[in-house]
Amino acid sequence: MSVTQQQVLDCLARVRSPRGVALTEAKVLSPVTVNDGKVFLSINVEAGEARAWESVRAQAEGALRALPGVSAAMVALTAERRPGAPADARSRGATGVAPAAAHRPPHSPAGSPMARQAEIPGIAAVIAVASGKGGVGKSTTALNLALGLRDLGLKVGLLDADIYGPSVPRLAGINQKPELDDARKMIPVDRFGLKVMSIGFLVEEDTAMIWRGPMVMSAITQMLRDVAWGTLDLLVVDMPPGTGDAQLTLAQNVPLKGAIIISTPQDLSLIDARRGLAMFTKVNVPVLGIIENMSYFQCPHCGTRSDIFGHGGARHEARRLGVPFLGEIPLHMAIRETSDAGNPVVVSAPDGPHAAAYRAIAAAVRDRLAGVTAT
Ligand code: ADP
Repeated sequence: MSVTQQQVLDCLARVRSPRGVALTEAKVLSPVTVNDGKVFLSINVEAGEARAWESVRAQAEGALRALPGVSAAMVALTAERRPGAPADARSRGATGVAPAAAHRPPHSPAGSPMARQAEIPGIAAVIAVASGKGGVGKSTTALNLALGLRDLGLKVGLLDADIYGPSVPRLAGINQKPELDDARKMIPVDRFGLKVMSIGFLVEEDTAMIWRGPMVMSAITQMLRDVAWGTLDLLVVDMPPGTGDAQLTLAQNVPLKGAIIISTPQDLSLIDARRGLAMFTKVNVPVLGIIENMSYFQCPHCGTRSDIFGHGGARHEARRLGVPFLGEIPLHMAIRETSDAGNPVVVSAPDGPHAAAYRAIAAAVRDRLAGVTAT
């Protein structure tokens, strides 16, 4: 039997808050989402109080996970600076927790945005798949690219951080929820040999959630650090689309080895892609390259190719901007159908031309990463 909203609230009422009252009385809770055993909520406090609340967050999450009928629970802590509060509060990052100098990567000079990032134990490299706007096929590409990297013999994880529309569970046909390990950490779902984690395991893809920047960051930080990823060669992060504050904070706070930008050939999307590029450059994350998706139309019947969007824009733009062009993926029914049926093309037609295209891009990404790591 799945847990009810009332049972969740009763459980939270047993957690004490630093304000001396029960957590449910402290006026800090977001609405609670309870969905088929999955529980999600956030605790919203001011940045100056965040430290005092971290243990409450952990306690609340632990209590919920121990509740019968709860299959997964996430409690995010969001800390916002009051207008006029010292800038210092903000420099602690959206979770309100000051960055630990001891975790600073050795190559990151203090004061650079990279200095804020802490490496994730067990994960050799984290890369972001981003797009300037939604609907360009970012998630489809992230998933198939992760599978292409898997085919190269790498141990790969996929973190669906597209908090505004977490589509990876649907695209990968995942119906089960993550289980908990002995430490009550969520274990990513094993699918097609990938370790997959998504906020979509906790909330429905189309749940209209009003996510504010700090809440996004907090939820994603937890998915990065409080998940039993095990050992991975590479974690692919499917970023939320766009280049707003939430994306910038994410790019700044996740220890990224590099970023990949997905663009369609249309001009508008290329303008957006340029913004994406500028965003990563601003936070010193190397752009591994641009992938042109829906590059040309390939007729599923006769195989004829039509450049309906004026193909080649991304390649040209990449050259102009001095970033690598990683490859192109055609607009093809098979990609849409397989992806929407939860059986991505690299898995459903591993010997076909599309799988080969994704694998070629994966190899280019691996080589670029090796170059980035070597320098
Ligand atoms: P985004 O993550 O950028 O919002 P999605 O990956 O969810 O985009 O893709 C949007 C839609 O486009 C989906 O229906 C998907 O199946 C389809 N799609 C993505 N890439 C291709 C492609 N190369 N060919 C055909 N359809 C595609």
